[in-house]
Amino acid sequence: MQKFIIIAIDGPAASGKSTLAKQLAGKLNYLYVDTGAMYRAITFYALENDFINNHKGLIEAVKNLELELEYENGLTRVFLNGVEVTDKIRTPKVNANVSDISKIPEVRKEMVKLQQKMANNKNLVVEGRDTTTVVFPNADLKIFLTADIKERAKRRYLEYKEKGEDVTLESVEESIKRRDKIDSGREISPLKKADDAIELDTTNLTINQEIENIIKDLKELENKQPSK
Ligand code: C5P
Repeated sequence: MQKFIIIAIDGPAASGKSTLAKQLAGKLNYLYVDTGAMYRAITFYALENDFINNHKGLIEAVKNLELELEYENGLTRVFLNGVEVTDKIRTPKVNANVSDISKIPEVRKEMVKLQQKMANNKNLVVEGRDTTTVVFPNADLKIFLTADIKERAKRRYLEYKEKGEDVTLESVEESIKRRDKIDSGREISPLKKADDAIELDTTNLTINQEIENIIKDLKELENKQPSK
């Protein structure tokens, strides 16, 4: 029977998870799953439908919501009930609310179920705050990315500027710190490094160096599992 490989990448906001996960998946020809995009989509839905302060209503709505991810040419396309929301989930407004919405246990339960279903019989690179601890605790390779807060703020700031968003470096740093605090302090599935995850500080690494590191880890893993 073929063994499928799961590589899970965890870490704080703007630590470089998406860039790394996408490129790694492309290089290995694995499916890429961006779990943050799912929490962002639910947050966008909550903002649009006045559920930000009505968690009970949101929980009911989420159960019947059709959420789909399609990965195409370096972009995760996101669909809610068949309608594309890809651009709408990456705004400062969604950023400001996503950590509060992703704290809701029932929302997490639905998302985790969906994520585990996506992994059925596939080689996968999955990224997100609880992917190494809760969603795929048995992942074959677990990476915990870190990077200096100043570097993370700079990366996110440049992304916004490229999209023409009106933000300051200070406000981006504040927003990242706030998200880190909520994500690490929440009771359910907090952001934390799994004991068996490999920690990779990306502050001074290029993306190619990060990928080289991980491919090396993957090769070591394959050598340990000759039965594949
Ligand atoms: O990774 P990204 O920055 O897009 O994630 C947005 C937010 O979604 C995070 O700040 C976190 O609150 C939430 N999230 C989560 N669990 C995941 C992925 C993201 O709680 N697996």
